[in-house]
Amino acid sequence: MGEDLKRMAELLKTGASMLEEACPQCGSPLFKLTSGEVYCAKCDRKVLIVKSDEEVPSALTPMALSTLEETLTVNLQRLEKAVRAETSPEALEGLLKLVNSHLEALERIRRIRRQS
Ligand SMILES: [Zn+2]
Repeated sequence: MGEDLKRMAELLKTGASMLEEACPQCGSPLFKLTSGEVYCAKCDRKVLIVKSDEEVPSALTPMALSTLEETLTVNLQRLEKAVRAETSPEALEGLLKLVNSHLEALERIRRIRRQS
């Protein structure tokens, strides 16, 4: 039995319920803990589910998302300049990792927005 299946079994034992929604990362069924938090047993992390007609966490209001998107976009422009100017391969690799995480975050923001 895999670690994730063990965790799922443990979760059910603690009174967690399996949800219809799947984890956006791995597609495994999500669990609602007795605390109300949503958890993915496979990724071993909490997952935020955003629905239009349910409680949207304050951090994910459209306003906060727009601000975050703007900040990330400005950062990306700075990173683009830095990437262009950088000559050290090591530093470049670090910069590209940052670019990548920014793009992932932007992609996620856009996905959340589509769902809401
Ligand atoms: Zn997952």
